[in-house]
Amino acid sequence: MRHFDFRNGEMYAEDVALSKIAAEVGTPVYVYSTATFERHYKVFSEVFSDVQALVAYSVKANSNIAVLATLAKMGCGADVVSGGELIRALSAGIPGSKIVFSGVGKTQNEMKLALDAGIRIFNVESLPELHALNDTAGSLGKKAPIAFRVNPDISAGGHEKISTGKAENKFGIAWDKAEEAYALAASLDHIDVKGVDVHIGSQIDSLDPFRRTIEKIGDLIGRLRKSGHNIQSFDIGGGLGIPYGNNEKIPPHPSEYGAMVKEATRGLDVELIFEPGRMVSGNSGVLLSKVIYAKETGTRNFLIIDAAMNDLIRPALYDAFHDIEPVKAPGADFEEKLYDVVGPVCETGDTFTKGRSLPPMSADDLLVFHTAGAYGAAQASQYNTRPLVPEVMVNGDVYEVIRERPSIEDILKTERIPDWLT
Ligand SMILES: *Cc1c(COP(=O)(O)O)cnc(C)c1O
Repeated sequence: MRHFDFRNGEMYAEDVALSKIAAEVGTPVYVYSTATFERHYKVFSEVFSDVQALVAYSVKANSNIAVLATLAKMGCGADVVSGGELIRALSAGIPGSKIVFSGVGKTQNEMKLALDAGIRIFNVESLPELHALNDTAGSLGKKAPIAFRVNPDISAGGHEKISTGKAENKFGIAWDKAEEAYALAASLDHIDVKGVDVHIGSQIDSLDPFRRTIEKIGDLIGRLRKSGHNIQSFDIGGGLGIPYGNNEKIPPHPSEYGAMVKEATRGLDVELIFEPGRMVSGNSGVLLSKVIYAKETGTRNFLIIDAAMNDLIRPALYDAFHDIEPVKAPGADFEEKLYDVVGPVCETGDTFTKGRSLPPMSADDLLVFHTAGAYGAAQASQYNTRPLVPEVMVNGDVYEVIRERPSIEDILKTERIPDWLT
């Protein structure tokens, strides 16, 4: 069932009318559904309930601490890519033992933070990083548990800006250097080799690249064990796509993905780790916005809305499609119009969609962008001095503001005019 749906002619998030949130919090605003987060986590984790597995939600997809706390309560772990995300996960109640640390540029300060928190594993992406981690762990008198993120040189087929598993990408240890890297790691005093890690991309709409990756890594695990490495875990990363409502291919359901993964890893005798981001948070949120002006130029119909590319950058960054719907259900007989939906930011790229067929809308009408719970608020900025977009979490018939909209004074407070100018 959909937790963002029409009721008495207007759209609700669970049991709360979006018009009520718009009136009380203002727009633009992200609105999340607790029930949807819970359902998506459950759908994914239950597939793997009969094997040894850790689901480590990819924090970067939606990093609000209320989201993390909602998932923590159900037993979810976290995949973090910075010290900041690590502190978020810990403060939301995710224990260090369920946190994995990914990313190509971990600093020694971040490593120290993670070692102090007793995280599950570091996904190491280069030899310089391995040496830095060995030094940091040594200075603390500890051993750092690691997996190498290996680059399997497999094309995942998604948008080039979110493809990570090809040899030319910056991620991971090159495929033909992996065994040397493990040999080096095993020789270091403060490194404990525990696993293998991959992450091949995002919004992947077919099982095939995942299957080929698992087969390749399965062979590697066999070779590593023959060389004496004690490989206990296999982190398959994230990347499973979700439907955005356009006519593109519908990605496999988590149950199909799960069946394939279990089949392909049977007999490997490893703990599986997963890092789903979009799959958990994407459909759990909408961006709620209001029409400022309907501007008709003779050739185009523009809906100029109060959300912009700084609030939701996916269309500008990846040509991403978001389903758009008015919050008030259109009457029985209306004629759809072709709209360009744009924001107020002074960039031509601040265009959410062109020539989209929508019910007629006018100033002050509310609309939503569906499937905005992942890579939405987390990528928002204050470009054009537009206050960082707030976030609201709905739970049944109640809601709370989980990130406030800063005032312009809040924004200016962090800036200074240097002494020599005053
Ligand atoms: C972004 C990322 C993920 C999550 O990807 P999704 O497509 O949102 O599932 C998982 N692991 C790593 C290392 C990432 O960088």
